[in-house]
Amino acid sequence: MIRNFIKKVLRRSPDVPVGKLRVVPASQHGIHPDAISPCALRVTKTLQEAGFKAYIVGGAVRDLLVGNEPKDFDVATDATPDQVRRLIRRSRVIGRRFQIVHAMCHDEVVEVTTFRGSAREDDRQQTDEHGRLTRDNVFGSIEEDAARRDFTVNALYYDPIRNEVLDYFHGVADVHAKRLTMIGDPATRYREDPVRMLRAVRFSAKLGLKLDPATQAPIRELADLLLNVPESRLFDEILKLLLSGHAHACVARLRAEGLHHDLLPLLDLILDQPQGEKFIRQSLENTDRRVSEDKPVSPGFLFATLLWHPVLDAWKKRQAAGERPMPALFEAMSDILETQRRKLAIPRRYDAVMKEIWSLQPRFEQRSGQRPFRLLEHPRFRAAYDFMLLRADSGEIDESIADWWTDFQQVGLEEREAMLIAEEKPKRSRRRGRR
Ligand code: ATP
Ligand code: MG
Repeated sequence: MIRNFIKKVLRRSPDVPVGKLRVVPASQHGIHPDAISPCALRVTKTLQEAGFKAYIVGGAVRDLLVGNEPKDFDVATDATPDQVRRLIRRSRVIGRRFQIVHAMCHDEVVEVTTFRGSAREDDRQQTDEHGRLTRDNVFGSIEEDAARRDFTVNALYYDPIRNEVLDYFHGVADVHAKRLTMIGDPATRYREDPVRMLRAVRFSAKLGLKLDPATQAPIRELADLLLNVPESRLFDEILKLLLSGHAHACVARLRAEGLHHDLLPLLDLILDQPQGEKFIRQSLENTDRRVSEDKPVSPGFLFATLLWHPVLDAWKKRQAAGERPMPALFEAMSDILETQRRKLAIPRRYDAVMKEIWSLQPRFEQRSGQRPFRLLEHPRFRAAYDFMLLRADSGEIDESIADWWTDFQQVGLEEREAMLIAEEKPKRSRRRGRR
């Protein structure tokens, strides 16, 4: 009775999850306010002092609970974007449909979002025929805001001033139990937004959380819904997955959950390349290692590795048909980029880097005369060299070439001269003499 009454009052449909607030004290959450960035702290304080609710929310709270360093801080508040704008001096409103505010400090931007309401709270048609949410832009209460988030561990609100966590869906308990649980009915939530299936895989691999059985169960059956997701959104999500620092584990998990064939062409490319398998595996492991060492990873480099074996095949075919090596390589690159574009939606902005890395590869075989010196000075040398190391590691080219280039970079000029292939040496000194 009472439940029905509350539901009516809130005008919610029965499948909107209802949470129950638990205030988790410091002794149980273990987060230290010092772990919050000064910018996020300042924004939260300013809003609270003006009488609004304001919390650190989402990924940052989750990461702190798990013991990882958050990569950015988001704030959720009951102040409207306009009110936030007026209170925070250096800030601007962005977005049209659902406005958020970017608060800017020295080198940091904090995203401030007004609590969002449930999109299903009135009678308007807000899902498409597959159950996908098409309207998602109304302000709401903190309870509603929590209910529309995906996983319990992502629906935690940290108040750095009171040093307590507001938890509506047992998120803290789930972190402690190392469990990833969808809020509400998992199948409904995947229908609303199929990308949540990919997020489930990414978070579980990245944070070492086990998928709760009910959260995992519908994935295989609903996998096809990914076909309705716009290509660019899928691309962004796959990129996050590949750059998560746990690409290798994510890819294995996607395969295990049945989330690849024809749904994610980019992943089919990773999983279905017999000749390139070792190369790609090493490339993903290498990417994960770089992320864990806080080194930059370039998506262009990663895509160049994923497409290398198809390029190599096309290149060989053209040479076998009598084309000269370099023109054949350029044609092969264009062919592959053209055909992949239709399937994979890798944006054009990565083309230049990929082409440069690929077209520099044959030059590592030329170790005489002036050429190695020129290659060393090429702005893209470092990426091309790293790429070549992967080729050597996977057995595609001779280890000795990789070793030669590693040595060549480390030794002084005289030793470099001595390393050049003997018969070409005179040519080099002549040329240098002429300059
Ligand atoms: P990270 O940024 O580390 O990938 P995150 O949890 O911060 O993880 P974001 O994509 O930045 O992920 O989203 C911020 C928050 O917004 C999430 O924690 C979650 O609460 C909510 N959210 C994001 N995407 C969805 C979604 N597809 N469905 C429901 N809630 C979502
Ligand atoms: Mg985030």
